[in-house]
Order: sequence, then C-alpha cells, then structure tokens
Amino acid sequence: MNSFEQISERINYLTKEIHRHNQLYYEKSIPEISDYEYDLLLKELESLEKQYPQFAKQDSPTQRVGSDLLTNQKNIPHRQRMYSLENAYSLQEIENFLFKSKTELQTASLTLCCEQKIDGFSINLFYQNGALQYATTRGDGYVGELVTENIKTISELPLSIPFQGEIEIRGEIYLPINEFERINEERELEGLKTFANPRNAASGSIKLKNSEEVKNRRLKAFIYAVGFVSEPIAQAQTEILCKLKEWGFPINPHYKKLSSYQELADFCNYWDKERYNLEYETDGIVVKVDNLALQDELGNTAKSPKWAIAYKFKAEEKISELLDVHFQVGRTGAVTPVAILKPVTIASTTVSRATLHNIDEIERLDLRIGDRVRIIKSGEIIPKLLGVVEENRPDTHLKVQFPENCPVCEHKLYKEENGVITYCINSACPAQLQRRLEHFTSRDAMDIEGLGPANIKLFIDNGLLSGIEDIYKLDFDKILTLERMGQKSVDNLKEAIEKSKQQDFYKLLFALGIRFVGAKTAKILCSSFQDIEQLIKVNQDELQTIPEIGEKIALSILDFFKQEENLQLVRKLQALGLNFINSKTAVRDTIISNKKFLVTGTLQHHTRNEIHALIEQNGGLLISAVSKNLDYLIVGESAGSKLDKAQKIGSIKIISEDEFLNMIK
Ligand code: AMP
Ligand code: ZN
Repeated sequence: MNSFEQISERINYLTKEIHRHNQLYYEKSIPEISDYEYDLLLKELESLEKQYPQFAKQDSPTQRVGSDLLTNQKNIPHRQRMYSLENAYSLQEIENFLFKSKTELQTASLTLCCEQKIDGFSINLFYQNGALQYATTRGDGYVGELVTENIKTISELPLSIPFQGEIEIRGEIYLPINEFERINEERELEGLKTFANPRNAASGSIKLKNSEEVKNRRLKAFIYAVGFVSEPIAQAQTEILCKLKEWGFPINPHYKKLSSYQELADFCNYWDKERYNLEYETDGIVVKVDNLALQDELGNTAKSPKWAIAYKFKAEEKISELLDVHFQVGRTGAVTPVAILKPVTIASTTVSRATLHNIDEIERLDLRIGDRVRIIKSGEIIPKLLGVVEENRPDTHLKVQFPENCPVCEHKLYKEENGVITYCINSACPAQLQRRLEHFTSRDAMDIEGLGPANIKLFIDNGLLSGIEDIYKLDFDKILTLERMGQKSVDNLKEAIEKSKQQDFYKLLFALGIRFVGAKTAKILCSSFQDIEQLIKVNQDELQTIPEIGEKIALSILDFFKQEENLQLVRKLQALGLNFINSKTAVRDTIISNKKFLVTGTLQHHTRNEIHALIEQNGGLLISAVSKNLDYLIVGESAGSKLDKAQKIGSIKIISEDEFLNMIK
C-alpha cells in the first residue's frame, strides 16, 4: 500500500511534469511525448486527485486547459470560454458517454453530431456588424493571443459575413499533409529543424512574427463552432454547421447525425481506417450532443463540455524485421541511413522503409541487422522506428556501420564538425545529380515547367543530362524521339528553359543548391551583393555582418565557391546567359548604391523595418555590426554602444534619420 507521503509526492511530480509538457506542446510546439502518453499522465493525476483531494494542487493542470500564451504578446479575453475536450481511448468510453448523457437528460433517444477531430490549432474569430474584428488563439481558455494578421493569410476564411450582431466563430487551423511535406523539405535544405508533424507545423506557423512567412506556409482551416453570439443563429450543432457553411466558412463535409451506439462505433471505426485517404490529419472523432438546449442542460466541467467527447484513434504499432540499412545520398550530399524493413501494413499502407535520420539515431537505438523492431507511423504519416525488441536477440546480429565512402561515387564522406550529418561533398556524385536537377528546376528556384522529376530521370537515363549546364544545351531532336515526348511538349519545354535565363539572381542563387542557403537566405544574400562576383570574393567576416547570416551559413558559402567544379558551373551558366546580377541594385543606381549601412537607436519617422527597406530599395547594403567596413551609421534617439564604437573607428559617417532621407530624395 502506498503511504500518503508517496501519494502526495506522485501528485506533485505529475503536476509538474504535465505543466512541463503543456509548455512544450502549446507554447513551444516541440512535444516530447505522444498525446496518448500525455493523456495517461493526466488521467492518473485526475484519479489520484479524486481519491486524495487533500493533496491536489490549486494550479493543477486537471483544472485548466493547456495554455499557449507567451509573455509580451497582445492578449484579448474571449467573450465565451474556449474549452478543451474530454478524451476517450476506447469505444467502451463512448458507450458510457452516451449512457450517461441519456440518463442525465432523462431521455431514451439522443441525436448526436459526429465530426472529425482535426489535428491542428484552435482559433477564435470575432465578427462585429458583419466584419472580422480580430482573431485569437485559444490561449489559456479565457484569454487568447492576437493573431489577426496571420489568420488573414488564410484566404478561405471570410473577412465579412451576413450577420450583423456580435459573434465568435471557432475552428481549427491545420496544414494539409502535402504542404507539411513541402515545408519540411524546404527547412531541411535551409538547415532548419523539421517539424515532427503537421500539427506542430501549424501551431509553429500561427505565431510567426512575419505574416508573409505565414502566407508561404499555406495554412487552411475548418470551422466547427460558435462561441459568444449576440442572438442565437441555430438550435443544433448540425444547424450551426449548415449556417456557417452558408456564410462562406470552410466546414468539414464529413459530419453525420447519429443516435445509436452501434452507429457511433461504426462511424469511429470507418474513419479510423479511412482517415489515411484524407489530405489532412485527423486524430479522432468528436461526438457532440446535437441539440443546443440539451448541451446547456448538461453544462461543463472545469475544462471541458459534458455534452461532447473526443474518441482518439490509436497510432498503430507493428513489429517488423530490420533487413538492412541503406545509405541514401540527397541533393545536398547529405547521407541519410534508411532502415529496410520486412514489409508490414501499418495504418492501411505498406511500410518497408523508415528513415533513421543520422548516425546518432542508429547508435541510440543500438540497431543490428536482423533485429526485430517496433514501427509506428508517427504523426500518422512518417514511418518511425521506435526501438528494438531485445528479448531473444541472437548474438550473431551485426551492428550497423556507417560507411566511410559515398555508397554511390565512393568519394570520401565528410562529417560535419560538431554535427551529426555526414556529407558526400563530390558535386559530380551521380546520386546527387537527379536531386540537384530537381531542385534547380523547381518552382521556387528556376521554375522550369516540363522539367520535373520524371523527365529529368528520362533525360539522365538517355544520356541527355549529366550536369546542370546541360539543361541549356539539350538536344531537342533527340528528345522528340523519346517516348511520351510530342512536338507540343518539346516546344513548351524549350520555351520554359529559355525563359528561365531571365530568372532573378536570388532564385538562381537558391537554385545552385548551396548547403544551408534556402530561398530566404538567398534573398538576404542578394540584397547585400550586387552580383555573383562579389559573393565569390567575399570573406567570412563580411558575410557574417549580414543580418541572419551566421557562421554555419557563411562557412558553407565559402566552401561552395572554394570548389573548382562549382566555380566552373557558375562560369558555364554565365556563358549560357543566365542572370547572375542583382537587377534590383543594378537598376537603381543612387548615391547610396553599395554603401554599407547600419541603424541604431529609436528613429522618429520610420520603424526599423521601414528604414531597412528604404536602404535596400535604394541600393544600399545592410550589415549587422559596426566595423571598418561600415560606411554610414544612422543614429536615432538613445543610441548606445554602436555609436561609441563607430566614433572610435573614425572613418564611419554618422548621420541622422533626416540626413539619410535627404540622401535618397
Ligand atoms: P485537446 O487538444 O485535447 O484539448 O482537444 C480539444 C481540441 O480539439 C479543441 O480545443 C479543438 O481545438 C480541437 N478540435 C478539432 N476538431 C474539432 C471539432 N470537430 N470539434 C471540436 N473541437 C475540435
Ligand atoms: Zn557521392
């Protein structure tokens, strides 16, 4: 029997631990445990608190919804509280819910509205006189964080509605699976941490400072509820959904009015399988009492409505056998170990491979060929190797060895210092060719329509492409003889390739595929350098004075241009007429062209961002620290150490905001 002391200690521990996981999940979007494991902790705490209320903490997470609020942000109270949902992990719990609701309402039959539980991030939209006033996050349930500008990037959410009173509209922001994959691919290229699943990507996006960046994430929304409303708009949940649809909101079409337990169970089981055919993630089914008056009668607990329950799907886990580990070479030359598995069906698809990320992961798992391994689909999408079944493992299983040389071109592999990633740095490596070409022609790079992965492969296989420059020397007569290639598609391809020669310098720079130089970094670089010649000559210190360019990116750029074959590629592409000059600075030749600027202190007429934009628009360059290279320091009120340092150096011209504005008049 546990002593009171042990029980109180356990309650303390659970309370602290759940608070910590709440922070990881809601504020930082980097959860350490699965929803299921989280709910187990919460359920244990709930049951202990019920048995031993004397030990329950006042700030217990069982009494509040997990908060996504960060300090220093603008918050707005909700007109009506935003609740969480009670979870059910078995159909038995759904049956109990139905029974309890009917008993409490003293009714023999009850209509329920069953909806998909969208795995995203909840939001609240407030409309007044038909116009969207603001949008907030769920926050702590009472107060939400203002995210209006970011929400406005979701074009399917109407800015005006035909309802003249005041109304809070609630729903879920989510990221479609294909967008999630696109974003992770881009992030990988930029050397950023990838998101674990679409939910984290969505919650990580909604709080970004820069709405332009949010727009690029291409978030979507499903609306499913009304909070506060100045006059009722319907009498049942299903009617609310119809009304909201009429008003132009995106409503998930897969809801259903049901009443018996058997129907509910069938609906849950149906979507448990069918969910994998959807283009977004759903982690369960929400069962709601349909009639609003009955909902009111049932009321709420401290955290959740009593008239609803969420049936959560289980992540399916299977055991398979590790047949081998392959080492795959990506476009940047990064070598990724991939587990080759005896095929198993998980979540209705066959899984025969799972990425192992890097060498550390292999060591952490202590993987050996022939091992029985536990596989799940993490975030329901990406197969993940959870661990090894160690019982009865024969001693004969061999440890997985990371190769010393590239498995394709045999070039010696290079392990990033302090890092865990291993690279093949031979840019002529054939494994990299396909992926490098795919990247080069992709939409955000050279945008060559008609030269996607399939045609690239076709052309490589037919000896038409063996390097990037070959794109501009394609033998179109030969292409015409290939299967699937008609005159029309060849003409279009020719035109698209020709057009790409005019592509902006920053897109070309991105297209070159320099490690850690993603689309955004390429743009930043191009606002600081007039042409590729300047970039080739630059040294590390100068590179690092550019905002957002740190040591890692700087070294990678220097490394890239140090390699003869990369320089040669640039020269060949120049000769073929591609655009290595920054048209922005080239056209606007002003007295500040190519002069280096830094701003310090508080300005009178412009914000930092505005003044930075003005500098760039007029051909000036921004650097982030005071050094001999700096030409002008623009000084506002209460300038500090930067001003002192600039005065000491002596050669830097120190000017006011007005003086600067005069220069660009
Ligand atoms: P939890 O995140 O465990 O607190 O679950 C409750 C959350 O599920 C709500 O706050 C909503 O953000 C979300 N949710 C997703 N789909 C629905 C839906 N169809 N109806 C109600 N809530 C939903
Ligand atoms: Zn190689």
